[in-house]
Amino acid sequence: MYLRIPLTVKKFAKIFHDHNFELFLVGGAVRNMVLNRKPKDWDFATSALPHQVLPLFRKVIPTGIEHGTITILFEGFSFEVTTYRIDGEYSDSRRPNSVTFAPSILEDLSRRDFTMNAMAIDLGTGTLIDPHEGQKDISLKLIRTVGRAGDRFKEDSLRIVRAIRFSSQLGFDIEEDAKQQIRNLSENLEKVSVERFRDEFVKILESEFCFEGLTLGFELGVFDVWIPEFRTSASITNHLFACACNLKDGEVRGLQLAGLLHDIAKPLVQTEDLLGTISFPNHDGIGAEMTQAILRRLKFPNDVIFSATKLVRHHMFEPCISESPRAIRRFISRVGFEDALRLVALRRADILAKIGRLTPTVEETFILEERIKRSHNDETNAFSIGDLKIDGNILQKDIGIPKGKMIGAILKELLETVLDDPTQNDEVVLRKLSAEIYESRWKPLMRN
Ligand code: ATP
Ligand code: MG
Repeated sequence: MYLRIPLTVKKFAKIFHDHNFELFLVGGAVRNMVLNRKPKDWDFATSALPHQVLPLFRKVIPTGIEHGTITILFEGFSFEVTTYRIDGEYSDSRRPNSVTFAPSILEDLSRRDFTMNAMAIDLGTGTLIDPHEGQKDISLKLIRTVGRAGDRFKEDSLRIVRAIRFSSQLGFDIEEDAKQQIRNLSENLEKVSVERFRDEFVKILESEFCFEGLTLGFELGVFDVWIPEFRTSASITNHLFACACNLKDGEVRGLQLAGLLHDIAKPLVQTEDLLGTISFPNHDGIGAEMTQAILRRLKFPNDVIFSATKLVRHHMFEPCISESPRAIRRFISRVGFEDALRLVALRRADILAKIGRLTPTVEETFILEERIKRSHNDETNAFSIGDLKIDGNILQKDIGIPKGKMIGAILKELLETVLDDPTQNDEVVLRKLSAEIYESRWKPLMRN
């Protein structure tokens, strides 16, 4: 057991003890210490009522004072202190109708969700209080509810996703009856706010046992309310979960979500021709629309939705490394440099998550990545109209092309030329070329 309690925590506890209040370390910090891991954040339970805690410190934030929770900024730490409490009746599987302060830590621990989360360390004596055998379940690698699983999940449906999340973070199994209850009750998740569901879902995607967590959650129906598309595309979820977990980079953003959803439309568009050849027409386009709808429903930030949707839309790109530098330039021009690299990363994760024919191969994706970087760093290359050695002003003032959409069209054409042959990106050449385009193709149109 990791028993190092920081000096600051001890000093903090002393302030409570000096005023004859009890203070216990609770929640994730205790769980981590029993797991021999370093605690991440420090949550406390106290016998003091909120109005008794407030005057003890200078920097206090009444985070959830109606639930008895206060955040205290203390010597560079942020400590959450909650008065012992028991939750009142739950009438909506979502949040208690009322909160009642409890007389002792034991009552407080019995309202907590899982046995491993219902342990406390007495900061007066340093002893571990474990009335629900959390240590034993930890050693069995088992997630077990405090009390009857059905009752606890009915009280608060968020616990259903939390069970999957902890299983996914720790690589623990969920106790059999609890699993059965999750299966029976996961429909109740519709009563949980989508933000709370999403935050737990994101933690699953970030977790060490991401694939196992997603798979278990899917099997037990935990995603059916908020992401029913997984059920309607059930045949592809195995691949999608593997791909998403290959893209885990600490923070869930567009790329990982694109990995999770890139083929979501495949089962819906699948067709078979007379020869038995299977294809998935427009699964990228339809998948992009589905991705946008799902991520909007889950209320992800707009930039994340935009990025994931774009990556899904373009994930079928085919710049094989056998192709010319021109193909690489066109690819960068079409999707942008950053997203070109992300699409290659997505393809690599895709290949690793599937045994089948995909181009390029894993080795080739690394070569491709290098070639994209080299092309991007090559000063002589141009990828957008802004990179051209000529601009709309010159076309208008010096060459006399009238203002309006013609200018844009000509610049686009110049970019096409330069993408094919970067040596053409020279002011003199481009001036000559634009005059030619204008004279030969646009001017005659204007006379009519
Ligand atoms: P993390 O490492 O993710 O912070 P944690 O266990 O600290 O994990 P929190 O969501 O911070 O999780 O909650 C702190 C503690 O509060 C939990 O350990 C648990 O005892 C209790 N708790 C949190 N949410 C619930 C809930 N929905 N039902 C019952 N108890 C809960
Ligand atoms: Mg916590």
